[in-house]
Amino acid sequence: MLQMKLCGDPILRTECTPVEKIDDKLLETLDTMVDMMRAQSGVGLAAPQVGITQRFLVMMTPDDEKIFKMINPVITSRSEKTVVMEEGCLSVLGGDNLPVYANVSRPESINVQWTDENGETQSAEMSGVPARIVQHETDHLDGKLFIDYLSGARREMVMRKVRRHKK
Ligand SMILES: [Zn+2]
Repeated sequence: MLQMKLCGDPILRTECTPVEKIDDKLLETLDTMVDMMRAQSGVGLAAPQVGITQRFLVMMTPDDEKIFKMINPVITSRSEKTVVMEEGCLSVLGGDNLPVYANVSRPESINVQWTDENGETQSAEMSGVPARIVQHETDHLDGKLFIDYLSGARREMVMRKVRRHKK
């Protein structure tokens, strides 16, 4: 049983380790994560968000609802051009249990390489929303959250709304 981890849980600040073997347990976990993502109307979910400190994630491109299961994803290049977009996170929820949103500036397009669920190496150039999702989700694998990009006052404003993990 996988459980969503919320902001304030130290697992979300953990540097995740590479996946060494694709086994049935991992494939099952990826499927469960896709279900959890859909159930919460999310477009991405990274392993530490469900309590696993390994480098994998699931995501969905909003336009065509294509699902990606990325194992050991690496962003190999980022555009110099940046763009501001609104981001939210299933681990950063407000008092109403819905994601808290904030504008974040990031590279507009990226190249990403990963291993798929069949063990094949894949790569893609992405821009716009899919590029945004990959950057947000791979950050999770390094223990980073989108709120880290907000400057002092804006960060405080957002954090006031955030329901924190209770220790
Ligand atoms: Zn997130």
